[in-house]
Amino acid sequence: MFYNNKRYNAIGSYLKKEFGYKVIKLSLDGGFSCPNRDGTLSNDGCIFCSEKGSGDFTSSSVLNINEQLTEQISLLKKKWPSGKYIAYFQSYTNTYGEINDLKTIFYQALSHPDVIGLAIATRPDCLSDDVLELLSELNKKTYLWIEIGLQSIHEKTAILINRCYPLSTFERAVENLNKYNIRIVVHLIFGLPNESKDEILESVRYMSEKNIFGIKIHLLHVLENTRLAEIYEKGIFRTLEKDEYIQLVVDALELIPPNITIHRLTGDAPWRSLVAPKWSTDKKGILNGIDKELLKRNSRQGIQLKTENWQLKDNEEICL
Ligand code: SF4
Repeated sequence: MFYNNKRYNAIGSYLKKEFGYKVIKLSLDGGFSCPNRDGTLSNDGCIFCSEKGSGDFTSSSVLNINEQLTEQISLLKKKWPSGKYIAYFQSYTNTYGEINDLKTIFYQALSHPDVIGLAIATRPDCLSDDVLELLSELNKKTYLWIEIGLQSIHEKTAILINRCYPLSTFERAVENLNKYNIRIVVHLIFGLPNESKDEILESVRYMSEKNIFGIKIHLLHVLENTRLAEIYEKGIFRTLEKDEYIQLVVDALELIPPNITIHRLTGDAPWRSLVAPKWSTDKKGILNGIDKELLKRNSRQGIQLKTENWQLKDNEEICL
């Protein structure tokens, strides 16, 4: 059994162990755009991307970074008076801008006394040498990780979702970030149109061989006013059923090395604009279902790995 009664390396427990206190991630909107939406690569964006650039739970970008932090921290202090925060730049592509603007915005977040780290979501084609140097500088000063929305390793899917970069771009970004010892968290989406279960698990297997810090697993959500919703309404694909998703997540966890932190096992869809699957609003039920399935299989993260290094002994625990 893992710490905290979990059978996987949950990021919340990992950070608590690392820092000795509760660490909470705050979603911020740095006012950035995305080359896949501003016409540089495309005007359409990824087909699932919402109007807020996948940052539906961030504060308003009308507020500056300090105001966004103060607003959120004042609410969270009531629940976790001694908690500290990781400032998460979530909306759009957060390394897509003038280098001095990026520097200003990231340092603004770090200047808040309760912020102990940064999480920056971006595209692998927006990591120029200048950006990498800035990230390396930040990495030496704070607890930093970079989040990359890969979603799938399959080129046919990349084209279908209009991701506008090939897998080789992702591989180069991982190599570059590894050179600077910068933590990487990769996003995968389960249930993308025309992907079989085997293809989804191939993406997981591929990631489990990379030098990365974490994985975020998202259930595919169909949101209003997206191109995905248009395709869905035409009946071209179906979304996953709840039990199907739970089985798939557990299959995936069994393939992920125990040292890789798990940042998410569901998605957080804004329920007002959620078209499908409606069952996904029951986040607690999904997480409980995953825990129950792991228990039923007497399983845990990484159990299926054939590599000797990652085989846990029966009585071995990892720090969660
Ligand atoms: S890269 Fe991110 S922000 Fe840009 S269109 Fe795709 S999901 Fe949206």
